[in-house]
Amino acid sequence: MEFKRVVVLTGAGISAESGIRTFRDQNGLWEDHPIEDVATPEGFHRNPNLVYQFYNLRRAQLLDSNVKPNAAHQVLAEFETEHIARGGHFTLITQNVDNLHQRAGNQRIIPMHGQLQSALCSVSGLSTPWTSDLTAEHYCQCCATPSPLRPDIVWFGEVPYQLDDCFDAVAQADLFVSIGTSGKVYPAAGFMQVAQEAGAETVELNLEKTSNAFDQGYYGPATEVVVDFFSRLM
Ligand code: NAD
Repeated sequence: MEFKRVVVLTGAGISAESGIRTFRDQNGLWEDHPIEDVATPEGFHRNPNLVYQFYNLRRAQLLDSNVKPNAAHQVLAEFETEHIARGGHFTLITQNVDNLHQRAGNQRIIPMHGQLQSALCSVSGLSTPWTSDLTAEHYCQCCATPSPLRPDIVWFGEVPYQLDDCFDAVAQADLFVSIGTSGKVYPAAGFMQVAQEAGAETVELNLEKTSNAFDQGYYGPATEVVVDFFSRLM
């Protein structure tokens, strides 16, 4: 079957083989920290220095020459180029905050949970590219009275970026592919159902099965199953 409107949702699993750890497979700890400490506004309020430091380490990791897009990121970039050239529509929604899809060359990316290489003005909401360490001493240049900058990460309890665009793309998809996500974090976890209700074929590519609801599932490391699946589509 020829698919015209393809939406891909990715999670931490696609970057695991690039050396970036996921958290769901480590008992809810992200790099040994409870999520409530490093991924909630309350955690930031309680201990801002811990949170700045946590994301500084994650951001610094992206500059490590060993951390680079893997074959799964690359095949998605190739697929996008080819699918668009054939007149198709493509949207890559990622929950990841790393920059590996961008580096692989995908163009139509929605980084719905923010980006490590960006800092956010907590007053205006303006995002600024940021590749070095960020601390409580860094202030924005957008407000009349400079305001503190924070990691540009959508924490639990906050509203993801471009949520309307995500839902529009998912509701119009005829193929929805979920890659390397545990399906535990809403609203992204609800996209599959929206796609299915709209009549899309739904596919899961993961190390292990996360739910029975997908129409098709292929299980194994992303560098194998994602490459196989998209190579067959091209
Ligand atoms: P998760 O950690 O909850 O789940 C990871 C999923 O990836 C699991 O289902 C696991 O089976 C699968 N997986 C692990 N290794 C894999 C591999 N080699 N190939 C294929 N699948 C593999 O991840 P999530 O669902 O994305 O939710 C985590 C949240 O934490 C996200 O919102 C994200 O913003 C954040 N996070 C991001 C990164 C990143 O940017 N790389 C890393 C950790 C956490």
